[in-house]
Amino acid sequence: MASTRVPVLDGHNDTLTRIREASGEEARTFLERSEHGHVDLPRAREGGLGGGFFAIFTPSPRYERVVRPMLRPDGTAVPGGYTIELPPRLDRRKALAWTLSVMSDLFRLESEADGALAVVRTTRELRHCLENGTLAAILHIEGAEAIDTRLEALDVLYEAGLRSVGLVWSRPNAFANGVPFDFPRSPDTGLGLSAAGRRLVEACNRLGVVVDLSHLNEKGFWDVARISDAPLVASHSGMHVLCPSPRNLTDRQLDAIASSGGIVGVNFHVGFLRADGNPDAPTSLEEIVRHVRYAVDQMGLEHVGFGSDFDGATMPGDLGDVSGLPRLLDALREAGFGERDLRKIAHENWERVLADTWSG
Ligand SMILES: [Zn+2]
Repeated sequence: MASTRVPVLDGHNDTLTRIREASGEEARTFLERSEHGHVDLPRAREGGLGGGFFAIFTPSPRYERVVRPMLRPDGTAVPGGYTIELPPRLDRRKALAWTLSVMSDLFRLESEADGALAVVRTTRELRHCLENGTLAAILHIEGAEAIDTRLEALDVLYEAGLRSVGLVWSRPNAFANGVPFDFPRSPDTGLGLSAAGRRLVEACNRLGVVVDLSHLNEKGFWDVARISDAPLVASHSGMHVLCPSPRNLTDRQLDAIASSGGIVGVNFHVGFLRADGNPDAPTSLEEIVRHVRYAVDQMGLEHVGFGSDFDGATMPGDLGDVSGLPRLLDALREAGFGERDLRKIAHENWERVLADTWSG
């Protein structure tokens, strides 16, 4: 049977940041096809990308990235294990200025795209885009550093179109603490939300903004699970039992997400997929299938989606970039997922969670 095209609504890309930072030979625009990076409009169309969360990520200022071997309590090294120091906190005003610049990039792109891309603010707009082949961009900030603890910037960013807030990237901020990129390690790496963090979650609930748990440490996760009245969302994470990175979710966390009616967008980053956590080893997209299968078995089909991390991570070689999405869908078909299952994983589950979270 010929397979029908299933549009993908993707939980996370870093394309806006990557394009803004690219220079020299790697410089590219979103509207023209490039050999570099993972997402542009021509490749998105080829891969059947219907839309996604376009993250605004404020890069850390240059700091020395120290990678040390992970040691056991007796002082011997864990084979393949490593510890990476977290980057320092960001300056809030610099983060806000960067965030406004990248938002402006997206709005300019929307006007230049001549109807091919739209920033969506309601589920009606999202559905319209998915039905009509307009690429839907959901505005997300990865780390809430641009927001002050009085949450004034949140109101303004919301009015501009912000519909999803990752409380942290992998560094501390005024609201919460992000996990380091150590391997292997539990996500229980430090303190939970601050009082401002708890207020931010409540404000996001009130406005109808997604609170994204990816990058958040485990105590913060349980704080959000206790406070939030919205479905729990981890936009780009993997399964800790399959790959013990602190960026991945334990079975208990998966169960909490499922029982809240939420979703995990399975991350495609090689280092969060492989059992050995090696981000540089040749890797097949079958590793993504393995995580999707586990997530479905653990949480149920309704709670699993994609969260590629395109333009922010290392993709399996046979996926390549966004134009490889049909190969991933075919691999899932071969693994026994039917067309109805695929529609749920590819976009319907994300649509349901957004309908249950957004206020319009
Ligand atoms: Zn991320």
